Amino acid sequence: MAAKSELRSDGKRTRKSAQDGPPANGRNGVEQHSLRVGNGRRSLPPVRNLVVLGCGGFIGSHLLDRLLDQGAIRIEGWDLHDEKIAAHLANPKFTFHREAFSDTRIPAGLIEAVRWADAVINLAAICNPSQYNTNPLEVIKSNFLDVYRLVELCSHHGTWLIHFSTSEVYGRTVSSYLPAPDYSNPDLFELEETATPLIMGPIQNQRWSYACAKQMLERFIYAHHRERGLPYTIVRPLNFFGPKMDFIPGRDGEGIPRVLACFMTALLDRSPLQLVDGGAARRTIVSIHDAIAAVVLMLQKPDRAANQIFNIGNRENEVTMAELAELMRLVYAEVTGDPSYLSHPIVSVSSRDFYGEGYEDCDRRMPVLAKARELLGWTPRISLYDTLLETVAYYYRTYGEATLADRPAEPAGKVFGDYPTKLPSDGAVDVGR
Ligand code: UDP
Repeated sequence: MAAKSELRSDGKRTRKSAQDGPPANGRNGVEQHSLRVGNGRRSLPPVRNLVVLGCGGFIGSHLLDRLLDQGAIRIEGWDLHDEKIAAHLANPKFTFHREAFSDTRIPAGLIEAVRWADAVINLAAICNPSQYNTNPLEVIKSNFLDVYRLVELCSHHGTWLIHFSTSEVYGRTVSSYLPAPDYSNPDLFELEETATPLIMGPIQNQRWSYACAKQMLERFIYAHHRERGLPYTIVRPLNFFGPKMDFIPGRDGEGIPRVLACFMTALLDRSPLQLVDGGAARRTIVSIHDAIAAVVLMLQKPDRAANQIFNIGNRENEVTMAELAELMRLVYAEVTGDPSYLSHPIVSVSSRDFYGEGYEDCDRRMPVLAKARELLGWTPRISLYDTLLETVAYYYRTYGEATLADRPAEPAGKVFGDYPTKLPSDGAVDVGR
């Protein structure tokens, strides 16, 4: 039987006989060898063996909930944390590895798993905007350098790589660079996977460190596809929301999470919701359940999903951050049964005070979803209200109920519709960051 070359953790290739055989649930070496799908030349097999990197995070935990519930796929997962996937650790279809991987260290078990897997889903990332300009070295390393060896490994074995990138690779819209931003023409702001230019600000605006690292990795994956036949799928998530997202500072994490958890923390703590630079930025929000449905369709339809880039978002659920703040306090009032939250304070804070030097915002993210609809048959269905209701109720159940009654109310601040237009650096309002 023909020997296969193998990538060692030190990056050198070794020769290993396929007679060494796969792990118990793997395919045999001949099959694997015949499954190279260089530039779509051959079919990908149905996914039965899956590697998930970053399986313990928000997206990974929901993916495991769905896939292990169906029970047809065997999963090997890597992460440093398992709190969000505790329910699955004893599942015989799931093997958890508490190990990191990086440019200098790919665990032997991961090398072996990639070799026999039908697909590798990479969810591992530092994807928290508060770190992009305060910790750009780590952000660039973890989102590009630590992953490029994994790409090489998949490429070497012809294993389908489903990589979670980011909608942030689009940067800011063309419209936002016009002297007078114009959102009447969709060509100036809608984001289409293979047509829209990727526009980022200058180097000193380190907000873009993450987007650039992710974009470079997308380009690296695509180059491996074109030159070496790597089967790939790139997913660009547009603001997935749901239970278990991020962390609540002071309860199960430290630092500044993304907007959902920031607003939740403020509601739980009875402190003002803070709108960065007035809250005019717009986001489209998609329920994690709709998003996971898209990933499941990819796994079910490998020949339609492979060698494509997909936006995964929900055009119907677009809000400004000011509207999101208002909606979240409304939902929180419903969940808690406490109408005083309807006038919970909302204040404005400058991005410089909130995130520090070097922050620049994405003005709007309106995805074109035609590709996901046509190739996968996927359409998001869950409304923003239902998404927030489920998520806010989860956070309240998990963190709020026990402490809410004990906390004294803070003095009322400016309420929505009347939040200051001047920023804290002008001395208009002190929001305590
Ligand atoms: N934001 C806000 N208040 C907060 C946290 C974030 O107004 O407490 C804003 C942020 O400036 C951005 C939007 O909310 O305009 C979404 O930020 P997030 O951190 O969720 O990530 P992004 O969508 O930018 O990747």
